[in-house]
Amino acid sequence: MLKTAQKEFWFIVGSQHLYGKEALAEVKAHAQTMTDALNESGILPYPLVLQDLAVNADTITNMMKEVNYRDEVAGVITWMHTFSPAKMWIRGTKLLQKPLLHLATQFNESIPWETIDMDFMNLNQSAHGDREYGFINARLNKQNKIVVGYWERPEVQQQIAQWMDVAAAYNESFNIKVARFGDNMRNVGVTEGDKIEAQIQFGWTVDYFGIGDLVQYVNAVTEEEINDLFAEYADAYEFVYGDYSAEDWESSVKVQASYEIAIKRFLDEGGYGAFTTNFEDLYGMKQLPGLAVQRLMAQGYGFAGEGDWKTAALDRLLKVMSHNQSTGFMEDYTYELAPGRESVLQSHMLEVDPTLAVNKPKLIVSPLGIGNREDPARLVFDGKQGEGVVVSMADFGTHYKLLINEVSAFEPEVPAPNLPVARVLWNIKPNFQEGVKAWIENGGGHHTVLSLNLTTDQIVSYAKLVNLEYVIIK
Ligand code: MN
Repeated sequence: MLKTAQKEFWFIVGSQHLYGKEALAEVKAHAQTMTDALNESGILPYPLVLQDLAVNADTITNMMKEVNYRDEVAGVITWMHTFSPAKMWIRGTKLLQKPLLHLATQFNESIPWETIDMDFMNLNQSAHGDREYGFINARLNKQNKIVVGYWERPEVQQQIAQWMDVAAAYNESFNIKVARFGDNMRNVGVTEGDKIEAQIQFGWTVDYFGIGDLVQYVNAVTEEEINDLFAEYADAYEFVYGDYSAEDWESSVKVQASYEIAIKRFLDEGGYGAFTTNFEDLYGMKQLPGLAVQRLMAQGYGFAGEGDWKTAALDRLLKVMSHNQSTGFMEDYTYELAPGRESVLQSHMLEVDPTLAVNKPKLIVSPLGIGNREDPARLVFDGKQGEGVVVSMADFGTHYKLLINEVSAFEPEVPAPNLPVARVLWNIKPNFQEGVKAWIENGGGHHTVLSLNLTTDQIVSYAKLVNLEYVIIK
């Protein structure tokens, strides 16, 4: 996976001085126990770091300022052990510019009826504190996540983990840079968009390059580099020569190897985590990048075809959120309309993401009807099964809109021996007719990002953080 910077989360526990030093020492000890257990659970993807107790406005304000300026801190988790008067939280919470999770839990799972007295109840009053603190977050329209339940339960820890992934992706969103090799495909509507607004709202930098800028890098790749990479292909894929001589097949594949090396070098030198290509804009290129793009997707780079920089950035964002597990660029292609089997064949002209492959990909060479170039190499495979989400972003002129459709992916039952591209299939929720209709009615694009690793809740959490309008189809 393409690296992102190291991240951690701060754990801030609310209380106040009213209860005395002894009580606060106990609060701190409980917070430490909880922090250690969460870190040792093996469920959280990032470390949780316990901070000083939040006992007055100055402490809280200073901690939130620190969170804002420290790049390694991706967000804040708060817990109200006792009652923490919420006016103390106003200044710091307003200043906080990173994701916030309110963990509504309590140190003791059950009420000890045999022994409970007023001291115990004063020390363990999370229910009381949660409501005071929650009121201020609601009034400040903080869009914070709330997770409710006992902190030792795996399902509660899982919710924290999923939110951490969203928060990490939110932080990374401001570092997403897209390199566009060529412009958008001529005449196409949905792949266009306001790049300035995307930078203001999501933090995405979108830069254009002439394809000649990339051709220079391709020409600089050495024979030795190409041969080394070709040897890697032999280990990873099944070579299928088809109607080609072994020599022609190999020379076609090696063109893609030179593209992989060149594009990766170009992106890494410029700090780009995502890119687009356009088959109409290939001056100086022998093939449309196919295998090369698929290999880079598998390494965590975001991508979309036909100059669609919005989907490329979204792909990178969701790859960070999902740790690049079963997440990639997709395109709606062909309907299956037979009763009871309704679905949409998902693919692209070459560039289907190998993180979605269920089997070992075949490496083939085949003609490409458009682009007027030599026959490009590409990986062919079937998509895996699983529950997931399909996401698409469109520019409506006055604002961006995100479409989220829940889907159940399934493995194809019959082979398609003449199809020279990878294929992915899913059942649309709530059903084919309503799902497709809602998608079209809301102006959802044909370019999407599919993830079998993320949930609607996670996508919505991100959308709220960036004030992005969303529609859920499920
Ligand atoms: Mn396309």
